Amino acid sequence: MTCRTHATCDLIDIGANLTHDSFDHDRDAVMQRAREAGVVQMVITGASREHSPKALALAQAHPGELFATAGVHPHHAVEYTAECDAEMRALLAHDEIVAVGECGLDYFRDFSPRPAQRRAFEMQLQTAVDTGKPLFLHQRDAHADFMAIMKQFDGQLGPAVVHCFTGTREELFDYLDQDWHVGITGWLCDERRGQHLRELVPSIPAHRLMIETDAPYLLPRTVKPAPSHRRNEPMYLAHIVEELARDRGEDVAVTAANATATTRAFFGLPGG
Ligand SMILES: [Zn+2]
Repeated sequence: MTCRTHATCDLIDIGANLTHDSFDHDRDAVMQRAREAGVVQMVITGASREHSPKALALAQAHPGELFATAGVHPHHAVEYTAECDAEMRALLAHDEIVAVGECGLDYFRDFSPRPAQRRAFEMQLQTAVDTGKPLFLHQRDAHADFMAIMKQFDGQLGPAVVHCFTGTREELFDYLDQDWHVGITGWLCDERRGQHLRELVPSIPAHRLMIETDAPYLLPRTVKPAPSHRRNEPMYLAHIVEELARDRGEDVAVTAANATATTRAFFGLPGG
């Protein structure tokens, strides 16, 4: 069944890097294609000092439809100075900014030194404590340090989502044990490295599960025909939720409706 024909299949992309340069020439068309695919709201990822204000501006230009996060990805951790911290806190004063992040640890690429990553992560967790806003988290190949740092803030943080979950069963259950949420992307559709996810996703309770494209990254490999430019777009969320529903053994309308309800409750988004 196709989701777009179903009134109950309103989708929300919780992780779209819509300020990315690759969308500069056709952002409005990208948004229109997303609407036509049933994507009714999106949370635009703010992942750097440069792009977090752009994410806010985009959200402000599309009230009720686009929302944004404000944060600095571990790749950019070296830019997390005291001035940057003040800028992020100013962004977070806006209602359109619905989460702190993207923040966390990435020891896979190590684009920023690990001590700088840990410091930027801790500072952003303190911001989450101070603002009471939800957390949009990134963790790759850094699970032990990630859990240890999160533990320092135990009992002080609001809701948290570990976005683009690609980890192991043990990591998944560590997150669920903490009552954190999990975001699933088109990584699921990657037969080379996402096969284990297909077996894990039935274990995620509906009230902990959200969906995202991480566009323009992670074009689902099962989209046919693959677009020649390889750019992922929010419209492919409809494809991801169909794959996810099949793996969970659910009707896609059920998976979609649950993810949307969970997302609205998590970020405090207006209902459709
Ligand atoms: Zn990420």
